[in-house]
Amino acid sequence: MPKAIDLHCDVLYQLSTRQQPTNFATDVTLQAGLPQLKQGNIKAQVFAIFVDESIPQRERYMEAIRQIELFQTQVLAQPEMIHITDWAQLDTLEEDQIGAILSLEGCDAIDGSLHKLQTFLDAGVKLVGLTWNYANAVAHGAQEDPTQGLTAFGREVVSYLNERQIIMDVSHLNEQSFWDVLPLAKHIVASHSNARAICDHVRNLTDAQAKALIEAGGHIHLVYNPPFIERDRTDDVSIDSLVMHYRHFVNLVGVDHLGLGSDFDGIEHTVLELQNSGQTPKLLEKLQVVFSEEDVAKIAASNFERFVRAI
Ligand SMILES: [Zn+2]
Repeated sequence: MPKAIDLHCDVLYQLSTRQQPTNFATDVTLQAGLPQLKQGNIKAQVFAIFVDESIPQRERYMEAIRQIELFQTQVLAQPEMIHITDWAQLDTLEEDQIGAILSLEGCDAIDGSLHKLQTFLDAGVKLVGLTWNYANAVAHGAQEDPTQGLTAFGREVVSYLNERQIIMDVSHLNEQSFWDVLPLAKHIVASHSNARAICDHVRNLTDAQAKALIEAGGHIHLVYNPPFIERDRTDDVSIDSLVMHYRHFVNLVGVDHLGLGSDFDGIEHTVLELQNSGQTPKLLEKLQVVFSEEDVAKIAASNFERFVRAI
């Protein structure tokens, strides 16, 4: 099986919020800790900074900074983990190295400050989602009024992210924010979303969104969260059901713009036989039942590698 690039995990959130001290290098209860990433033959992993909405606004920035500190002291402290600050580094990783990429899942931590956003980019954040599920100073999230979109400050944020060659992540946006961002963003992905035609959930993309995203040069990375695969299901969701979403998108937009976006350590429930990053090869095996070996290699990593080479 080819090596894989995964565009979303929440291991930093776990390291930051668990009651018991958690060690990235050794903890077998993490879904995307070092042992699992190694076992899963992961070439590069995106680590999201995610600040829970229960944290008061005035404390959110420091919570995000704390997660960057954990990225440095726990993730980058491992000799195998290489911080990807320039996309060209993906091409020079050695066999036993794993690329570590930072993303910001929602701009809630910056409130109305471009200066705070600059701090995150200077720390190495390469992908930015404008919202999580709720509204903030920048845009409206997936669980908000679908007619409310990007704010005036949000437009400033998008143009600053373009200037800094940052990938915008539309996975958590509501529909209006998605349509507002699409023509403005230079580099755009949905890092962890599935097909709404198969599973009607606000976190999934409609066919119209998926087509427009690909026409704008974007990519879609599919998510392993059971309720986003089968409506209202948490248990007994199979890898085959996730493969249905890949089939749908391949028929709709082709195979060249798809990838992986597990959401490991950010999901309460898991797909059968896809319970942690170590089981990534099982997904690739199941994809090979319906797609060619070449196409599975594209989904696993090479589509995204091609995408970032153009940045
Ligand atoms: Zn998410």
